[in-house]
Amino acid sequence: MSKSTPTQPPRRHDRLLGEHQHDTYKQRGQLKGPAHCRKCGAVYGKGRWAWGDQDREHTHAVLCSACSRIADNYPAGELMLSGDFIDRHEQEILNLVRNVESVENSEHPLNRIMKIGPSKEGILITTTDIHLPRRIGTALRSAWEGELDIHFDDGANFTRVRWQRD
Ligand SMILES: [Zn+2]
Repeated sequence: MSKSTPTQPPRRHDRLLGEHQHDTYKQRGQLKGPAHCRKCGAVYGKGRWAWGDQDREHTHAVLCSACSRIADNYPAGELMLSGDFIDRHEQEILNLVRNVESVENSEHPLNRIMKIGPSKEGILITTTDIHLPRRIGTALRSAWEGELDIHFDDGANFTRVRWQRD
């Protein structure tokens, strides 16, 4: 990964603007009937999103909340990786990060990594959902120990996780 393309962490004014956006994402998540995402092709039925070859022609075309968040650059979670260990083992760490995402995403299409990029403190990973930062953080700690802090902001429906390993 190139360090020359910094990822912008969510800014404070984004969080304020986000109040009604959050509601929008929530509403988009509550679909009445079968649907599919016109962007990523995930299909919705029986109360959950899945990957599959279900009949798309006869279901509503919508934009799933993951694609909406990506389009708006409005993450639901973030994971900060910091410490000297990160520099020395960046590739292995990012491989594990992608593996966890891939397993999670196969079961839960709306759980995705939005961006991975350098930040002042290390590497910042943003996600389309509130679960992935914790899953990835837990996997990193299992693999390499280090310190894991998990914070869920109920009001903002936002997960902030930090993994520090020196
Ligand atoms: Zn989608």
